[in-house]
Amino acid sequence: MPTIRFEGQDYFCAEDETLLDSLARHGVMLPSSCRAGACLTCMTRALKGTPPKSAQLGVKDTLAAQGYFLACLCKPVEDMEIGLASVSPRYTARLLGKELLNESIVRLRLDIPEGFTYRAGQFVNLIRASDELTRSYSLASIPADSYLELHIKKVPEGRMSTWVFDEIEVGDELSFFGPSGDCFYLPGSSERPLLLAGAGTGLAPLYGILRDALEQGHAGPIHLFHASLATAGLYLIDELRRLADAHEQFHYTPCVLHGDAPDGGMQGNIVDIPGQVLGSLSGYRVFLCGDPPIVNGLRQKSFLAGASMQDIHSDPFVFTPA
Ligand SMILES: Cc1cc2nc3c(=O)[nH]c(=O)nc-3n(C[C@H](O)[C@H](O)[C@H](O)COP(=O)(O)OP(=O)(O)OC[C@H]3O[C@@H](n4cnc5c(N)ncnc54)[C@H](O)[C@@H]3O)c2cc1C
Repeated sequence: MPTIRFEGQDYFCAEDETLLDSLARHGVMLPSSCRAGACLTCMTRALKGTPPKSAQLGVKDTLAAQGYFLACLCKPVEDMEIGLASVSPRYTARLLGKELLNESIVRLRLDIPEGFTYRAGQFVNLIRASDELTRSYSLASIPADSYLELHIKKVPEGRMSTWVFDEIEVGDELSFFGPSGDCFYLPGSSERPLLLAGAGTGLAPLYGILRDALEQGHAGPIHLFHASLATAGLYLIDELRRLADAHEQFHYTPCVLHGDAPDGGMQGNIVDIPGQVLGSLSGYRVFLCGDPPIVNGLRQKSFLAGASMQDIHSDPFVFTPA
């Protein structure tokens, strides 16, 4: 049974138990969110001992080489001493605006804390100060904006999203750390076609990536497919149509699974629609965000339609197990 030393105390880790679960069992709560290796909230550093390679999946090479690993993926195989990663400082920002985008999605605008920089499409980890509950939310703004923007969906009985919907008010101070994530637009190859696809608040990072690409002069075609179960679940329709009118290279397709699609939209499964409309995706740079099964389905279909795996960037919104 490996021993984990943290802040001067020793804890035993049971066989097949993750380091995150083991410490929680002893009453030590490390920051965490998705617990599936996606959000990087539980990044931890090995001060002594070596984490298993499987605990460094998704950790940048440069950080892995310094002993950083994900506590939620780490099943220790030897004694370790660990410390909290200080790769990202904690920021505090004032809530400038809170507005419903549809019945179940709220837009938050925050001021930009001094020293905070990001790429459009990355995400931050929002912290509820009263109990340190932490959840990841994608940035829908672009660095040129004078605010940070988040789109948050109300999840039934969701602890963070209900708090965001029902309790926080304009003027409140909110804490977060980050940014994280590598689902963002890189300048260069500005003629290459882009496919952006996702459902629900998966639009948040896609909207940021889209505006960033346009801002950086992307000249090749940009296709955005945004899906919801029905039209009422879509949002920013007018804004996206306005952008499509203003930029001939940008094409926006709202998609619904049930009922009539809005003008210019399509009815069907978002996983199939981009392939039906675009055919071959050879040469495309692909960005997929939101609901994990949809992202996984789109990733598979994009690859089968000819996109290269290294050109497929995705951010599945993995949720924290109850
Ligand atoms: C990288 C990343 C980026 C993200 N970006 C966004 C974003 O921009 N906007 C956004 O709204 N969310 C985003 N999420 C999801 C977000 O982090 C939370 O998981 C979500 O807001 C629910 O948190 P909660 O505390 O309200 O619910 P919890 O209290 O964690 O969950 C309550 C219950 O609902 C279940 N549940 C939670 N989420 C879902 C779901 N989507 N579908 C079905 N059941 C669910 C849980 O298993 C639990 O049983 C992102 C997640 C990741 C990993």
